[in-house]
Amino acid sequence: MPDTPASTCRIGVVVEAPQHSGLWGALDYRCAQPLEPGTLVRVPLGKRVVTGVVWSSTGSDDQSDVVDEASLKAVLEVLDGLPPLPDAWRQLVRFAAGYYQRSLGEMALMVLPPELRQLDALQWGRRLKRLNKAVAEPSVPDPSALPELTPQQEAALAQLAEPGDKPFLLWGSTGSGKTEVYLRQAQRALDEGKQVLMMVPEINLTPQLEARVAERFAGRRIVSLHSALTPAQRLRNWLMAHYGHADLILGTRLSVFTPLPRLGLIVVDEEHDPSYKQQDGARYSARDLAVYRARLEKVPVILGSATPSLESWFNAQPESEGGTGRYVRLAMPARVGDGDMPRVRILDLSRAPKQLRGQEPPPVAQELLDAIAQRVEQGEQSLVLLNRRGYAPVLHCSDCGWKSGCPHCSAWRVFHKVDRTLRCHHCGFTERVPRACPDCGNTDIHPVGRGTERLEEQLAEALPQARLGRIDADVTKHKGALEERLANVHAGEVDVLVGTQMVAKGHDFRRITLVAAVNPDSALFASDFRAAERQFALLLQAAGRAGRDADVAGHSEMWVQTWHPMHALYQALRRYDYADFAAQQLKEREMAGLPPYASLAMLRAEGKTQQAAQDFLHAAVQAVQHLADDIGGITLYPPVPTPVQRVANVERAQLMIESPMRPALQRFLGQCQHVWLDLAKQNRRSGLIRWAVDVDPLSI
Ligand code: ADP
Ligand code: ZN
Ligand code: ZN
Repeated sequence: MPDTPASTCRIGVVVEAPQHSGLWGALDYRCAQPLEPGTLVRVPLGKRVVTGVVWSSTGSDDQSDVVDEASLKAVLEVLDGLPPLPDAWRQLVRFAAGYYQRSLGEMALMVLPPELRQLDALQWGRRLKRLNKAVAEPSVPDPSALPELTPQQEAALAQLAEPGDKPFLLWGSTGSGKTEVYLRQAQRALDEGKQVLMMVPEINLTPQLEARVAERFAGRRIVSLHSALTPAQRLRNWLMAHYGHADLILGTRLSVFTPLPRLGLIVVDEEHDPSYKQQDGARYSARDLAVYRARLEKVPVILGSATPSLESWFNAQPESEGGTGRYVRLAMPARVGDGDMPRVRILDLSRAPKQLRGQEPPPVAQELLDAIAQRVEQGEQSLVLLNRRGYAPVLHCSDCGWKSGCPHCSAWRVFHKVDRTLRCHHCGFTERVPRACPDCGNTDIHPVGRGTERLEEQLAEALPQARLGRIDADVTKHKGALEERLANVHAGEVDVLVGTQMVAKGHDFRRITLVAAVNPDSALFASDFRAAERQFALLLQAAGRAGRDADVAGHSEMWVQTWHPMHALYQALRRYDYADFAAQQLKEREMAGLPPYASLAMLRAEGKTQQAAQDFLHAAVQAVQHLADDIGGITLYPPVPTPVQRVANVERAQLMIESPMRPALQRFLGQCQHVWLDLAKQNRRSGLIRWAVDVDPLSI
């Protein structure tokens, strides 16, 4: 027996350490008494005192530098009073760190409420005291007040009631009553005394869902979790969940990590939405982690969408149809009541009257303009979708060819007319619009192309009788602005609403009978292989905004202005045939060896020069090529600049890594990390700024 003093033991603690520190697992500390894994502690780290999570009660696994307990640093404080984070939480974090190639400490601390990391034991005790407030008795919803289920909802709920361990894909048209299915299934879980985690892509776009949940589950404790909460609110709500006080948690992607002692159901609404993927730091997919978590904690998970991601669709197709059969598909093709989806009208721009040379085509073809005018006359609303904000994407001098480029990025600065600025949408660099061309002094510089601001202006000119409104990121920056603008639309104070994809999501507009996409073609020829999938989802979702009221639904229309009317995407849209669209896309993906038939990872590097970024990537490939050869089935593509290669004076490059087998790719990446870390350290003086791996990247 080693003669350790009885009062000392060794524990492993994970702390937040930046990736480049090379610290991947737990650090050993000394402690007076054994602590349960999952306990939060305050420990010294270098010159700082930081919050850490006890990971093992026996010290870290790394025995390479065994030292005796006495020489270890001591745990300073134990945040007792907080129940240890459960095993399932630690397993989820461990999996996420491993899968997305981040350090354990970064993952573990990143997913805790920020405020939790700063509190010491004293502040902590105070905080806890305030939390334990009385809970109102839940009022059981009056069954007679609930809508009678449609046969499709009945069928879906019957399947959801059957025990099984497969995730469910609820594939239902917009307005088919998916939310009602979530609520009924949530009710079942709540009745059994369980907690429900309901995830949505963006919280501010779904105030109606929040209201519906609150109304249905009156008296239950419902908390929300998203990044727009104040740090104090977020901590409070997280604690309510962790203590088991909260019954239903409505949250964005970060909520997937909430510890829930009584978890009974996970719902991922609009599962195809790219917002579920974190786009910096640890780039995890909350949708995929929700599926992992459900299996881990043996609870059902429902992924819902009218246009599922092709990954989920592929998993929900039976093997006999070429899929994996890993998920159970629940289909609800019909809309509730008489509300059919609007009729799709493909407007062929090549047949519109020709423009004079050099003249810009009108934003909206006359035929569509007439249709909108008619709606205005009938007291109905129209929604015109254009996925580009600002007035015009670029200013141009026709004398010398000057364009409003950003000096810090390889991108144009967008002209915003309201405040007469040129703004870079990548780095934020903003200047007042010059009076004359900065290069040649010509005063005739003019906007080229159009954004929502200009479209609104042009529509107002063309339709003097109409009241225009606009919703995009520019006009909804301030708190409450979005709600206010939405309320105007609901109150009928707007005849024609111009908006970006923001308006296509989730809103329950009652009087909109015409939806028009005026420039959807850009997605057809984009370099990103997911562009078509995203565009189809957006157009279908936008169409779903029309005709939600049965009395106006009969004549509602979805217009698509295009130069490519025969394109397969629009032809599938015309029939609302997601299955057909998905089949086309899957065939293309299979031939090209792209997801879901292959797994991808992207190694990204940023440097002071493009050369520095690419040099690192070239060296990175060289250093691991033999590992790839050993494992087999791994393809490393040549490094290339990213689509926008310079942002805020930082040059960016990337290289794609592909394998038809996910486990092989995972094994490979696991082996690469240390090699690349060392390489980056050696390259520190070569102009490399940072590097990271993005597993299952959403944009390429
Ligand atoms: P989704 O989530 O699929 O878009 P919702 O659940 O929001 O659909 O349903 C669309 C509309 O139909 C909502 O106003 C909802 O209250 C209503 N609804 C849902 N299910 C029923 C039902 N069984 N009977 C009557 N109305 C329903
Ligand atoms: Zn000029
Ligand atoms: Zn810029």
